Amino acid sequence: AKADGKGVSRRFDPARFAEAEQRRHAEHELRVALAERQFEVFYQPIVDLAGEHTVGVEALVRWQHPTRGLLQPAAFLDLAEEIGLLPELGNWILEQACAQAVAWQRENPDFELNVNLSVSQLSNPHLTDEVRAVLERTGMPSRLLVLELTETMALTDLAESARILASLKTLGVRIALDDFGTGFSSLSHLGTLPVDIVKIDRSFVQAMPSSANDASVAEAVLQIARTFGLSPVAEGVEDEEQAAWLRNLDCAHAQGYHFARPMPAGELTDLLERQSAR
Ligand code: C2E
Ligand code: CA
Ligand code: CA
Ligand code: CA
Repeated sequence: AKADGKGVSRRFDPARFAEAEQRRHAEHELRVALAERQFEVFYQPIVDLAGEHTVGVEALVRWQHPTRGLLQPAAFLDLAEEIGLLPELGNWILEQACAQAVAWQRENPDFELNVNLSVSQLSNPHLTDEVRAVLERTGMPSRLLVLELTETMALTDLAESARILASLKTLGVRIALDDFGTGFSSLSHLGTLPVDIVKIDRSFVQAMPSSANDASVAEAVLQIARTFGLSPVAEGVEDEEQAAWLRNLDCAHAQGYHFARPMPAGELTDLLERQSAR
């Protein structure tokens, strides 16, 4: 029994020690960041492909780190979720974004807001109450709020997810399935989930004009969306060729660097002003 793994793992290993130390440091920094509101919500336009005007935005979180500068979600979101910060951070993002959208709606009455949900938010039994409270506090019209979740998140417990989404939908919000097409095994379940919108993953969009095969996959994904009565939004549109292709396939809405990158609220306000002056 003495030769079990215990003694071995206790031996001092500088590399592992440094790694654990670094992680503890990162955790601490994230907690401070949340307490001190070092996060900022950026907004990426969602455009109408026919007229190329902005119909809404997706809220995307950034971390304004005191020494490392602006950090993308890939640098911190998984750890934040792992250590349990996401219900609180997610609520904060939702409230910030709703308050901001209400301000934009004064000039743009039907301006829509998409907000991403995390796994831990989706499994929070009070999610519907919390979303309702944010809608009430900010005055955000529920019909203009879209909550995004990924297929993989929704399909771990399909029946439970369907119940949660149905509960959210009693508020009048809509649900979007993010990164659509990347979890093809789950397609047969699509009819079970009360989803309104699908966001066609950028891997399909970016493959579009390059080969006949890829193009037919993208077309099939759009076709599936239509079969289930869902509105498609194409993600990751990076050039005019892709935009034209999507327009040709009658995809109404799109998002991507070709139109605009995610930007701070102030810049989006300027963009909307330029647009309405056109
Ligand atoms: P996502 O929900 O699929 O968001 C779209 C991502 O694609 C964003 O990355 C956006 O900046 C990026 N993107 C937009 N247009 C283009 C394009 O034309 N080309 C390319 N290559 N990329 C494009 P970002 O902001 O780094 O976010 C990454 C992921 O982090 C998001 O993927 C989402 O899963 C997660 N995330 C971001 N903000 C939040 C949040 O507030 N809450 C939660 N739960 N997750 C978030
Ligand atoms: Ca998203
Ligand atoms: Ca996506
Ligand atoms: Ca994604």
